[in-house]
Amino acid sequence: MRVDVRELQALDERYAMPTYARAPVEFVRGEDARLWDSDGREYLDFFAGLSVHNAGHCHPRIVAAIREQAAQLMGTSNLYLSENAARLAERLSRASLGGKVFLCNSGAEASECAIKLVRKRAHGRGIDAPEIVVLDGAFHGRTLAGIAATPKLAREDLFGPLPAGFVAVPRDDPEALRAAVGSSTAAVMLEPIQGEAGIYPIADEVLVAARDVCDEHSALLVYDEVQCGMGRTGTLWAYEQLPARPDLITTAKALGGGLPVGACITAPEYGEVLERGDHGSTFAGAPVTAAAALASLEILSEPELLASVTTLGDRFRAGLAELDGIAGVRGRGLMVGAGLAEGIEAAEVSARALERGLVINVPGPATLRFLPPLVIGEADIDEALAKLEASLIG
Ligand code: PLP
Repeated sequence: MRVDVRELQALDERYAMPTYARAPVEFVRGEDARLWDSDGREYLDFFAGLSVHNAGHCHPRIVAAIREQAAQLMGTSNLYLSENAARLAERLSRASLGGKVFLCNSGAEASECAIKLVRKRAHGRGIDAPEIVVLDGAFHGRTLAGIAATPKLAREDLFGPLPAGFVAVPRDDPEALRAAVGSSTAAVMLEPIQGEAGIYPIADEVLVAARDVCDEHSALLVYDEVQCGMGRTGTLWAYEQLPARPDLITTAKALGGGLPVGACITAPEYGEVLERGDHGSTFAGAPVTAAAALASLEILSEPELLASVTTLGDRFRAGLAELDGIAGVRGRGLMVGAGLAEGIEAAEVSARALERGLVINVPGPATLRFLPPLVIGEADIDEALAKLEASLIG
């Protein structure tokens, strides 16, 4: 017998730190883009666990890879070799910047690795107090360095003293970005499409300015692809569609196919900046999580799937733009944000959508975010649009 939702809420309130506002629903089963709650109700999932289940819930190849490896050996330690971890590093490198890979367990840890790497390189170049330039609206994780790099969360009053050395500039101002980079800059770090801010693609001019000014000052360009990577925008990495290539990328979320896996990947020149003893992680690259990531990476690299992300994304954005109550649609591929017309509360729309069996997300009071699994079809797009249309009206 499953515990009833009200009892579950009471249990959660009694024992879990109150850091989340949770909806009163427990999902107990998932398949492709569908979820079922503890009362057996079916939902269409346009959130995918915040861009984690890009391959759909319980993809048979990911489930099989986990089962097989879990029954054999779950993990040992990074003090020993592991074929799955080595193959995962190889595939990530070959599929992106071609350098070396540090495996970790989350997006925040991938940011930490990138921050340590660019700082160590800067110290090696004689910079005593290296700076990292970030963009307003950024989100790079919840660790101390992560929030220091995330202007909205960098609350000295609550969590200070925070690591110093982060400088924020507006996300849409190439000149301000150029002016902020100088001889003390270790890196410019940005999400090519800002996710938590509500899906804001960074303009090509800003990316080109970042690349130019990094080259001018020998600083590194870091792209946080934790949310926008892994096929979400119609290419394995968002940067593949952009005019400026980074020196380092971070990834996590969909990489692990549902298990916690992250990575920081370098261009060849920066693969040996972090040396023995500079960084480490107990769980990272364990055979079972790496097996899941290998399967996820293979599925999300399939050209037909990536091509369909682009066409389905176009269909979804075009349909959204037609709906009454939607006041602006942003994004690329199946990473989509929408502003709401004045007077419409995003939280209310999302709650009504949930009642109608559609899972969406609210990154701001007047913004909706859509991050469906990439395995959806046209019928799912049309169903989501119909449910959303009804939810916008009330
Ligand atoms: N970077 C970006 C762009 C993210 O969207 C997130 C999470 O939403 C993170 C980093 C942090 O990832 P995690 O929650 O796995 O630590």
